[in-house]
Amino acid sequence: ATPAATMVGTTIGAQNGVLFKGGDILERAKDVDTVVFDKTGTLTKGEMELTDIVVFDGDGQPLTDGGDTAADGGQLTARDRLGEEDVLRLAATAEHASEHPLARAIVDGAEERGIDVSDPDHFENVPGHGIRATVGNSEVLVGNRKLLRDNGIDPSPAQDTMERLENEGKTAMLVAYEGELVGVVADADTIKESAKDAISQLQERGVDVMMITGDNERTARAVAEQVGIAPENVRAGVLPEDKSDAVESIQDEGRKAMMVGDGVNDAPALAVAYVGTAIGSGTDVAIEAADVTLMRDDPLDVVKAIRISDATLAKIK
Ligand code: ADP
Ligand code: MG
Repeated sequence: ATPAATMVGTTIGAQNGVLFKGGDILERAKDVDTVVFDKTGTLTKGEMELTDIVVFDGDGQPLTDGGDTAADGGQLTARDRLGEEDVLRLAATAEHASEHPLARAIVDGAEERGIDVSDPDHFENVPGHGIRATVGNSEVLVGNRKLLRDNGIDPSPAQDTMERLENEGKTAMLVAYEGELVGVVADADTIKESAKDAISQLQERGVDVMMITGDNERTARAVAEQVGIAPENVRAGVLPEDKSDAVESIQDEGRKAMMVGDGVNDAPALAVAYVGTAIGSGTDVAIEAADVTLMRDDPLDVVKAIRISDATLAKIK
């Protein structure tokens, strides 16, 4: 494009809340053939809410009534007497030290239910998997299946419960207390209003739309289905440090990928993408690493960025 056309395009972008970091970026955007969306905070609002608490007895059977009895006639242990409120208090206390949106939803949900949440005595983040905390003298784990397995606890008794919640698009987390599975808590997020529209407009243009997330496969697919992304285009269970590798491997197929993300987690992936796009309420780190910044929190502005690039280049033909 001529310097004049580039300037016009950049200005139109800015007026629409689409900030291109340079003229070369503005030219590149029109050639994008694959858009990879981060899930949480990008396609969803990232405003988690606690939705479910399921208590398990000593045999890993879900208790419907937060129960007080050893239903199997076996010995009544301390764990058998844990009710819904106890499981939630343990999880919330353990998560009190975490900044993660999943953790905040658990703490807020507990407080809304009138539970006094205190600080854990010890706290450790296990990135991409959950947290390990000490509450009183007891170890509490909150996180995914791998977190439990890595700590010698079998998560399989909770499999049916986990699957049910994940099929609803929720993030289900296992709660372990003193080395045993005691419950499952689930958080739900809300999909952004324009996500589906933005994705169908990209697809109409012939752009492949993909999704990448640290969340598990089942939750990811449930969300993908709601926004119109094909199941085979979902990359789930991707650890924070592996997101950029995932984008690179997509590009190794010869694709020109735009990565759209909001979080610190996404910065390396934004940096390696053909076009890195930071969206809305994105963190400074993401904005820093990005080529394009969308000022609004609106996935439709991804389409707008590509259209502005198209229009700018069309002018010089
Ligand atoms: P995302 O990419 O969706 O932000 P993360 O990579 O941070 O996800 O986490 C991946 C998974 O690890 C979550 O879906 C959850 O199962 C588990 N996890 C991470 N942090 C926590 C936490 N603080 N409490 C419970 N589970 C967690
Ligand atoms: Mg995110």
